[in-house]
Amino acid sequence: MQTKNIRHLSREEISAELTSLGEPAFRAKQIWQWLWEKNASGFEEMSNLPKGLRDKLAENFSIFKITIQSKQVSSDGTIKLGFTLYDGEIVEGVLIPADDRMTACISSQVGCSLSCSFCATASLPRKRNLYFDEIYDQVAIINKIALEHYSKKLSNIVFMGMGEPLLNYSNVIKGIERITADDGLGMAPKRITVSTAGIAKMIHKLADDDVKFNLALSLHAATDEKRDKIMAINETNNLAALKEALIYFHDKTGTRITLEYVMLSGYNDMKEDVVELVKFCRNVPSKVNLIEYNPIENGLFKKSSGNALHRFKDYLEDNHIIANIRRSRGEDIDAACGQLANKELAKAELADSLAQSK
Ligand code: SAH
Repeated sequence: MQTKNIRHLSREEISAELTSLGEPAFRAKQIWQWLWEKNASGFEEMSNLPKGLRDKLAENFSIFKITIQSKQVSSDGTIKLGFTLYDGEIVEGVLIPADDRMTACISSQVGCSLSCSFCATASLPRKRNLYFDEIYDQVAIINKIALEHYSKKLSNIVFMGMGEPLLNYSNVIKGIERITADDGLGMAPKRITVSTAGIAKMIHKLADDDVKFNLALSLHAATDEKRDKIMAINETNNLAALKEALIYFHDKTGTRITLEYVMLSGYNDMKEDVVELVKFCRNVPSKVNLIEYNPIENGLFKKSSGNALHRFKDYLEDNHIIANIRRSRGEDIDAACGQLANKELAKAELADSLAQSK
C-alpha cells in the first residue's frame, strides 16, 4: 500500500491525523516546521519528536521529496539539475548566478502541452502537472546548491523551466504560497516571476486572486499572423485578448508586466516588427526583455545579430519603452531558456539500451 503524502495535508489535517493515532495534536506544529521550514527529507530527521511518533509517522506517511538525478556546471557558472520525482519522472531546474542576484529557474510540468516552434521542451509530451510540494522542493534544493557553490542564498525565482505554469494554476499558486510563507521558505513574492505563453483567462484569474508576484508574457511577435506561426496557443489566445488581460492584471495588481521577446533572425527582428511591438506596448504598462535565441536541435531559427538586437532596443527606448537585452547563460550544458529537454536522461537511456543490446 502506498502511504499518504504528508505534505499534501494542511496543518489542521495533520493535527487530526495525530489525534486519530493517539498522539497529542500540538506535535503538528513541530512536524509542520520540519516539513516546510527545515525542509526535512525523512521523519528520522525530526529530532524533537519522540522516537515512537517518528516511527508511527513513517509507517503511515511519506514525504516524497524530489531528488537530484544529474548536475552539470557550465563554464559560466550556471548549474543545471535534473530532478527525479516520486514516480520516476524527470524535470529540470537551473541556478543562474550573477553578481547582483542568484536566480532559480524552475519547472511546473513534466514536459509541455504547448508546441512553440522555438522551444526544446515542446518536443516532450506533457506527462503531468507537478504537485506544489515538487515545485517547492526545486526551490529548496537550488537554494542549498547556491549556498554550497556560491555561499549566497537565492534572491530570485523564475517559472521559466519546463511547462506552462498557468496550465497548472493551483499547484503553482500553492507552491508559491509555501515558498513565500513565513512558516515556509520566507522568500519575497516580488522576487518571483511566473512566465506564461499567454492564457488570457488565467491571467484574469491571477488578477482576481490579487497575486503579489510578477508576471511575464512570452510575446515573441506582435502581430497575430506571425505569432500564430510560432506559438500555436495564439490561435485561441490572440494578441487582442492577451492585451486586454494584461491591462486588467495591471489595473488590479498595480504590477508592471514583463514582455519577453526572443529575437529570431529574419523572422521577428526587423523594423516592421519593432513598430508592431511598440503598438502592442501602448496602454500595457510593461518593460521588454529582448532575449537571445538559444539554438535547439533541429531548430528552424537562427539568433539575431548583435546589431539587430541593439537597433530593436534603441527603437523601443526612443519610444519610451524600457528594454533590456538578456544574454543566454549555460548554453554549453543546454541549460539556457528553451533548451530544457531532459537531454541527459535521453543520453543515459540510450547508453542503457545499447548496453542491454550487447
Ligand atoms: N511556458 C512558459 C514558461 C517556459 S519558457 C512560457 O512560455 O513563458 C520560458 C521563456 O523561455 C519564455 O519566454 C520562452 O519563450 C523562452 N524560450 C523558449 N525557447 C527559447 C529559446 N530556444 N531561446 C531563448 N528563449 C527561449
